[in-house]
Amino acid sequence: MALRHNLVQLSTGEILRAAVQARTALGNQAKSIMEQGGLVPDGIVNDIVAARLEEPDCRTGFILDGFPRNLAQAAVLDSLLNGLGKKLDAVIEIKVDDAALLDRLSGRFSCAQCGCGYHDRHKPPARPGTCDVCGSNEFTRRADDKVETLKNRLMAYHRETSPLTGYYFAHGKLRSVDGMASVEDVEAQIERVFHAPESREEQITIAHD
Ligand code: AMP
Repeated sequence: MALRHNLVQLSTGEILRAAVQARTALGNQAKSIMEQGGLVPDGIVNDIVAARLEEPDCRTGFILDGFPRNLAQAAVLDSLLNGLGKKLDAVIEIKVDDAALLDRLSGRFSCAQCGCGYHDRHKPPARPGTCDVCGSNEFTRRADDKVETLKNRLMAYHRETSPLTGYYFAHGKLRSVDGMASVEDVEAQIERVFHAPESREEQITIAHD
């Protein structure tokens, strides 16, 4: 979606996972919290986003993925955007039942070479153990996609992140997408938001000049 619209995709989870893997000071601070499925302290995440938004490739617009995660982060985002002279076009809420989310995330894995995504039950490779796209035999799974950790992540969502729907609804920015629909249909719903971010039919966090 980001590529199609020539936008930078800024995923706080990806930046944190890279820091954990590289064993930077920041990564070492975040590691055990992420492994337990909790939220990394706001100060760390806010600094990451603030620094990233200053980079030249963000000038023409970006998609925030996984940020903000609570009301305090949303307030920081508001002031960062203000400082940059940008506005939020829309906030997309992808609605998925908890049980479906647990099923989807607990079974997902990807090719370690080309990144192609798979699922144990819903989308296994045609030849077990071999990537359909590049033929690699190496796959990776996120450490926090274990069922116990997923339950904590869901709890963190309901406790800290779900209030954001009210916040962005009140600001006229919320667009809801039915995440229980097929992949193609969810993509089409999100595409419609990109084409008409101001129309309230649906609900990505997008910002541009
Ligand atoms: P994600 O890739 O978005 O699922 O994030 C993976 C993990 O990174 C989360 O479970 C949190 O531990 C951490 N994380 C990512 N984004 C944030 C954020 N905005 N605030 C706090 N923790 C975050």
